[in-house]
Amino acid sequence: MVRFMFSALVIFSLIGTAALPEEEMHAVRRQEMVKEQLAARGISDKAVLEVMAKVKRHLFVPESLSRMAYEDRPLPISYGQTISQPYIVAFMTQAAGLGSNDRVLEIGTGSGYQAAVLAEIVKEVYTIEIVKPLADRARNRLKVMGYNNIEVRHGDGYQGWKEQAPFDAIIVTAAPDEIPEELIRQLKTGGRMVIPVGSFFQELYRITKTDSGIKKENLLPVAFVPMIHPQE
Ligand code: SAH
Repeated sequence: MVRFMFSALVIFSLIGTAALPEEEMHAVRRQEMVKEQLAARGISDKAVLEVMAKVKRHLFVPESLSRMAYEDRPLPISYGQTISQPYIVAFMTQAAGLGSNDRVLEIGTGSGYQAAVLAEIVKEVYTIEIVKPLADRARNRLKVMGYNNIEVRHGDGYQGWKEQAPFDAIIVTAAPDEIPEELIRQLKTGGRMVIPVGSFFQELYRITKTDSGIKKENLLPVAFVPMIHPQE
């Protein structure tokens, strides 16, 4: 018996995660992702690390790519769009400085993954997607997963979501050339917006709205898909 267990152990360690049932393999890779791609690179917010270890990113990517879901890279999600690299999702979530009572607006729903990560931390998430089939797909997916604190709207993120404003935080996951004034208007005083800005070269900024104006911090060079104007 001991000998059998030993050989089983040897075989298992030789073939590694390849022999595990699909779900377990994803779980192992997800934990590795958190350790190697996030914690090792300075993501330190405990809530963010916990959520990244929990949300099943492989369910947000096309099935044919699910084995790559925990790799250190963005992945295509059709319509020329991508789901961001896990590190960027964690970095933006941490940079937004979220609290459990916050109401958050996301621009660029895409797969719905960032929205799910936010919804695990905050009270309410409102997310806007300009490509209708992506909005519909993300809405269904999030509903099936049981998220009842996320609202998905098909529309133009440049307009924000006036009926639900002001927000504690806004996370923009497509890059405009300039910071949209309307989104700053929809931030609470004390609210934070994390947003990539630029065309070819982009920088990720944190904008904090204060009594006396806005504070702008340059956080990181990034590469997001451009934020689309609806008339284009
Ligand atoms: N946050 C997403 C990834 C976003 S990719 C995720 O977690 O999967 C950027 C998304 O922004 C794309 O789906 C794109 O269609 C959308 N987008 C681009 N311009 C937009 C606009 N003006 N308003 C709303 N969404 C927009």
